[in-house]
Amino acid sequence: MKKKNFTSTALHSDREGKPEHGVLHKPIHTSVAFAYEDARELAEVFQNKRKGYAYGRQNNPTIEALAQKITKLEQGLASVIFATGMAAISSTLLSLLRQGDHIVSSAYLFGNTNSLFNTFKELGIEVSFVDATDVENVSAAIQDNTKLVFVETIANPVTQVADLEAIGALCSDKDLIYFVDNTMTSPWLFSPITVQASLVINSLTKYIGGHGTSIGGVIVDSGKFDWAANKDRFPVLSEPDPSYHGVVYTDALGPAAYIGRCRVVPLRNTGAALSPMNAFQILQGLETLGLRMERHCENAEKLAAYLQQHEKVKWVNYAALPDSPYFTNCKNITNSKASGILSFGVSGGIEACTRFIDSLEMILRLVNIGDAKSLACHPASTTHRQLNEEELVSAGVSADLIRISVGIEHIDDIIADVSQALDKT
Ligand SMILES: *Cc1c(COP(=O)(O)O)cnc(C)c1O
Repeated sequence: MKKKNFTSTALHSDREGKPEHGVLHKPIHTSVAFAYEDARELAEVFQNKRKGYAYGRQNNPTIEALAQKITKLEQGLASVIFATGMAAISSTLLSLLRQGDHIVSSAYLFGNTNSLFNTFKELGIEVSFVDATDVENVSAAIQDNTKLVFVETIANPVTQVADLEAIGALCSDKDLIYFVDNTMTSPWLFSPITVQASLVINSLTKYIGGHGTSIGGVIVDSGKFDWAANKDRFPVLSEPDPSYHGVVYTDALGPAAYIGRCRVVPLRNTGAALSPMNAFQILQGLETLGLRMERHCENAEKLAAYLQQHEKVKWVNYAALPDSPYFTNCKNITNSKASGILSFGVSGGIEACTRFIDSLEMILRLVNIGDAKSLACHPASTTHRQLNEEELVSAGVSADLIRISVGIEHIDDIIADVSQALDKT
């Protein structure tokens, strides 16, 4: 982990330049549109020839402050913000892929991403799901029409850790876009750019916002993928765009072509813009991301160790446990920290699971992750319900699995609550 100046960057990077009136943080700009001195100036903004804002669906100063902060924390080239993490993933992929293209995806996915990829199949985009904890499986799935590889860093709820570095080398060797979902780790725990990711997505809803107040998503272009050199395979960026006054993005925007196009095409067309109010709340949450992540990791590690020795607990999934099958990958990518999500099986099957969850006194029964508060849920009946039996087995989500998103409360209180709930099973 390089992270030396992480929290300082998270605190100060939206005040660079000359903040208006010396404000302490970026104000909430609620103006829907922006006025200019003359018609030519506005036209130039519209044509990407001048920096500025035209209409709030594409950008806004508060949203841009958030984008710049994330770009810095991910050490990327440029970012674009969306209304949700899913909007970020779907808009990005729909803007790059065409009928007849193929993607290779980790089989261990956030439930909605899995459902999105199944929708892609209906649109004529082929998807191969593989066990991405070993690069060999990714390599074996690559075809002539493969354009992109999609992986999550640490998957939820079983905490499989993708073979991130080796997949990065493979993608760079084959000129494939390497699209990494960093939501579970957040830029504090892992920088996908260090394993040559081309694009990074974070759901801002989870650790980055951290307080359950706003949904949001962001795509970062790392600058590692050479869009211009691969223009034959991604004509959307290198051929004149008739829907945007014939612009050729790689010519007009240089290395930032992809993010620039995201703003003027998918974001404009889908309309999945974040509200400036939400951007402000996420910016505030982000200031303490580093402090919270430290506590999330420490608490989860202690809770995992407690559960492992409990007589009523059958098994524990947590990648930072030395006997986890994912420990080696975890050690390689995050220096043996595994974020705040763990899962475990309770003796007594689904009935015991229900009793455990119903008996919790402090830990909340709800299906979010990455919140400052500890949260518990039963994935097989909630978040992963859309999977059939076979898919549940291959995702490792058994019927007796309980997931806890470990919060930042004092560890003694978390363990006390889990302990009294286990007593009641
Ligand atoms: C929550 C989540 C998403 C989607 O984010 P939303 O902001 O809820 O749309 C994507 N990937 C992962 C890993 C997530 O946990």
